[in-house]
Amino acid sequence: MPDVLIAGAGPTGLLTAFELERAGLDVLVLERDARPTAQSKALGLQPRSVEVLADRGLLAAIEPHVEARLPGGHFSNIPIDYTELPTRFPYQLGVEQVHVAAAIEARLRTPVLRDAAVTAVAQDDEGVTVTAGGQEYQAGWLVAADGGHSTVRTLLGAAFPGRSARISLVVADLTLTRKPGGYADEWRLPSQAAGFLLPLSGGRHRLVVVGEEQQRLGRDEPVTAGELQRALTALHGPGFEVGEVLWASRFGDASRQLERYRHGRVLFAGDAAHIHLPVGGQGLNLGLQDAVNLGWKLAAQVRGHAPDGLLDSYHGERHPVAARVLVSTRAQAVLGVPDPDAAAVREIVTGLIAVPEAHRTVAAEISGLGVTYPGVSGRAVDVPSTSDGRAVLVGADLPPGWADRVETRSGAGPQLVRPDGYVVWNGGPGLEDALATWFGEPAVALV
Ligand SMILES: Cc1cc2nc3c(=O)[nH]c(=O)nc-3n(C[C@H](O)[C@H](O)[C@H](O)COP(=O)(O)OP(=O)(O)OC[C@H]3O[C@@H](n4cnc5c(N)ncnc54)[C@H](O)[C@@H]3O)c2cc1C
Repeated sequence: MPDVLIAGAGPTGLLTAFELERAGLDVLVLERDARPTAQSKALGLQPRSVEVLADRGLLAAIEPHVEARLPGGHFSNIPIDYTELPTRFPYQLGVEQVHVAAAIEARLRTPVLRDAAVTAVAQDDEGVTVTAGGQEYQAGWLVAADGGHSTVRTLLGAAFPGRSARISLVVADLTLTRKPGGYADEWRLPSQAAGFLLPLSGGRHRLVVVGEEQQRLGRDEPVTAGELQRALTALHGPGFEVGEVLWASRFGDASRQLERYRHGRVLFAGDAAHIHLPVGGQGLNLGLQDAVNLGWKLAAQVRGHAPDGLLDSYHGERHPVAARVLVSTRAQAVLGVPDPDAAAVREIVTGLIAVPEAHRTVAAEISGLGVTYPGVSGRAVDVPSTSDGRAVLVGADLPPGWADRVETRSGAGPQLVRPDGYVVWNGGPGLEDALATWFGEPAVALV
């Protein structure tokens, strides 16, 4: 019997599985689809996610698929500069989400079980029973990472307050049979409210548009080549000819978040816990950070040495971060509305974002590097995590009893770094308190 079941083999579920496995747990990922999707939603990895993936040795397998290193991100398609950010990765990686997921999946010890849609969940004090693909599976815990339409959320009747969509955007992957002479077919930061066009591998292009026509058409209206042609011409002028539409979909700005990320022995992560307009490149990164926040806490809980409240601090820490992203994406959605008054607000905001301090604040938010938590003094730069999910104590002596949870290193310190890379002590009194707060009572030392 696995320690933890995970519903959903998207990037969030896969990285959660990776984190739990490296901490020594047995995990089984249950995925609805028979095979991995070939269709990427996200095309960008923010600096904080790049840091985390590099730290876990997952970046090397993603690198061959990187299409661009963009020196920034964007806030409702207003370019944001990352070049001065305090990180080894002051850029956004342009890479299709499918390659990120595949790189993580390739490193799992236990293969993902596919064709196994979760259809029922029961739990008691001892554990969970999950029905998937007609079979029953038992484990101590379930992580629901089954995406924005989460079945587990519905099965549990979990409150998911927020509001439905009002603004609509179209995302399409297509080929172009003609491009105007002089058009530079390259990745660049979006700069127009109405959308952007990016080249992908294999002669494909990604078109994202938020025009007036998209607001007029119903959410269930099929996306036609004609609509895309009109949108592209409005965006970049004449001379483009849309060829084959390989994939197209309408997305809205529905904005909702679970009231509670933990329901007994079921924990929600990624899009299953929060949905918003896909703008600013935030969702995938939120999900990956959920995974690394939850992984070590759930592992400590399963192993029996989690201090009181540690597992609940997953909700305590991550709910406010996603709530802030919902605020940001709602604001970005308004700035993108094709309306003269929204354009006026956009002009003002663009000017304000150009003020260096404001620019740095927005860059910290969008890049994910600005995330911090109560009791945490910041993220550790240049302290690689352990391969077994233990915390790291640098430049100080570890009191007896915590060696199974904390690895000691010499080097620049002192600092005590959680397995997800955040610093919880950096010298002075209080090391034992910090150890007890985050890593539990010391194990009885053997004599
Ligand atoms: C058009 C678009 C562009 C985007 N661009 C960006 C971007 O540039 N940057 C960024 O950070 N984010 C972006 N996002 C958001 C990002 O794609 C999502 O936030 C991300 O996919 C969330 O990952 P996840 O693993 O939580 O959920 P998902 O990727 O949705 O994965 C959920 C998985 O669960 C499976 N599943 C569903 N139901 C069940 C069930 N009952 N049982 C078992 N398995 C089930 C699904 O098949 C799927 O594999 C974009 C989103 C969209 C729509």
